[in-house]
Amino acid sequence: MRKNNRPNVDCILCSVRDDDKNIKNLKIYQDDIAFICLNLYPYNPGHLLIVPHRHIKSFRELDKKEALHITRLIQGVQNLMEDVLNSKGFNIGINEGPNSGASIDHLHYHLVPRYPNELGFIDIMSETRVVIEGLDSIMKRLKERISDYVNNDFFKEYK
Ligand SMILES: [Zn+2]
Repeated sequence: MRKNNRPNVDCILCSVRDDDKNIKNLKIYQDDIAFICLNLYPYNPGHLLIVPHRHIKSFRELDKKEALHITRLIQGVQNLMEDVLNSKGFNIGINEGPNSGASIDHLHYHLVPRYPNELGFIDIMSETRVVIEGLDSIMKRLKERISDYVNNDFFKEYK
């Protein structure tokens, strides 16, 4: 059902990367290697996708620079989420290949923040309209703060 609702573009993540005006853009960060956007169908409030610019299908196609850079991005966003969303745990993962549950053919990492009292969040987010508003509000909060967590100094320490 979700697939039928998807906009008619070759690749939704390439469209997000390129700021295609025909799609809802939930991007909170972009640099010359990767970008970060909210998942339109969040498992939890703050569920993000971390995406290499290159349209590659497999984790094994990442080069060393991309792999290190994206790992560092994820670490920075974990710090951001702890502070801004008060998340206490994380699920980080990749779905790859036809039997994995992957629904987008462009490699991306899921970063799902976990909360001590998720029932409360789910209650709040249970109505579709509220979910959409929730996405915009969470996007704004993360976008406002991400440059405090993911910046040149933060990457410098890593190299
Ligand atoms: Zn793509």
